[in-house]
Amino acid sequence: MARELTTIEDARMMVLARTSVLEPEPVPLREALGRILAAEVAAADDVPGFDNSAMDGYAVLAADTRDAAAEQRRLSIVDESRAGHPAAVGLDAGEAIAISTGAMLPAGADAVVRVEDTAREADEVVIRAEVTAGDAIRRAGEDVRAGDVVLRAGAELGAAELGALAAVGHGEARCARRPRLTFVLTGDELVEPGQPLGPGQIRNSNAYSVPPLAQEAGGEVTAVTMVGDERAATRAALEGALGDDVVIVSGGVSVGEHDHVRPALESLAVEQVFWGVSLRPGKPTYFGVAPSGALVFGLPGNPVSAMVTFLLFVRPALLAMQGSDPSTARIIARLEADYEKVRGRAEAIRVCLRAGDGGWVATPTGPQGSHVLTSMLAADGLAFAPTEIDVVRAGESIEVELLRPGSPVASIP
Ligand code: AMP
Ligand code: MG
Repeated sequence: MARELTTIEDARMMVLARTSVLEPEPVPLREALGRILAAEVAAADDVPGFDNSAMDGYAVLAADTRDAAAEQRRLSIVDESRAGHPAAVGLDAGEAIAISTGAMLPAGADAVVRVEDTAREADEVVIRAEVTAGDAIRRAGEDVRAGDVVLRAGAELGAAELGALAAVGHGEARCARRPRLTFVLTGDELVEPGQPLGPGQIRNSNAYSVPPLAQEAGGEVTAVTMVGDERAATRAALEGALGDDVVIVSGGVSVGEHDHVRPALESLAVEQVFWGVSLRPGKPTYFGVAPSGALVFGLPGNPVSAMVTFLLFVRPALLAMQGSDPSTARIIARLEADYEKVRGRAEAIRVCLRAGDGGWVATPTGPQGSHVLTSMLAADGLAFAPTEIDVVRAGESIEVELLRPGSPVASIP
């Protein structure tokens, strides 16, 4: 391929330039884990909504407890305030109202004496500790004030975010629709796992490694279809796929005689945006846009290339379509040993990360051939070796894009 190769950065920018946020939809909170909030959420009311007790005990007037440690104070119990059942009456001097944690503070009370500092005697309570006004009281709005922005647009809804939405009274979250993807896997040689292999046949591993990457990025996989290395069948499979938001083709995108994907896409009027990235593994990567607006990614069939190019180019698009920040967390690490590469192409080295004395240390996961799928096992990140060098020396700094959020944190010894 004596063609101009696109840099990784340019390829990503071209993808993002053709990507737009999908329309929002209401999502019930229980189904919203991992979804991306489409618009900021502000609290309509204070949380908590009323002054309440931080302890089980007695709501009192602090003045009635003066010197209670030295000289016991006796108050008459006039009512009870339980969680969800406020007291029916207010409180006057000389009175106490039994109160539970989270129960509404009765009118007139200005402090709570914890139950451990009291003794109940019939309808009286003996107070054994002096309190000051405000003690053991949680004020309305201490967590969130009415009008506060609780979550920003683009926030990923994890457990705490879902709890916060519930706390401010939202039963649904407004989120961009999840992008729908169809996968088309090409290759006469492919056999499903569980089936016997004939001569020259291999397992269709991309059908099992790449769609989960889409799901991890919030995508909805609508179909995973297989097609042999034949022009008409390839065209028919692609034509059927173009109704989805994103079409991922695996294999058949290189320059071989049996690579039918590009001609088939061309015949379907798919506009080629780039074909060929200065990247190892992943040079033949293709990106185009169909007249329907569908984004079409042609990923090289080699198992590592397919996964790496998906992570580098498709994942950011899926995130952007959901209104999420498409950038990936990067750290600087030092390479553990010399790493030799091919000059003229950037390389994405699969590495494990560990905390060293002076920062992160990256170690390649093993042989780095694009067919060595096991190099993806236990990989924490992709270390980027620049185009114009042929060796990264041990101890040299290298940028590493994390494959899993928080992955290096998990590898701290
Ligand atoms: P291609 O991009 O079609 O030239 O394929 C490049 C290499 O990847 C070849 O060795 C193929 O056998 C292999 N390959 C293609 N598709 C798959 C797949 N779905 N699963 C595993 N390996 C594949
Ligand atoms: Mg092929």
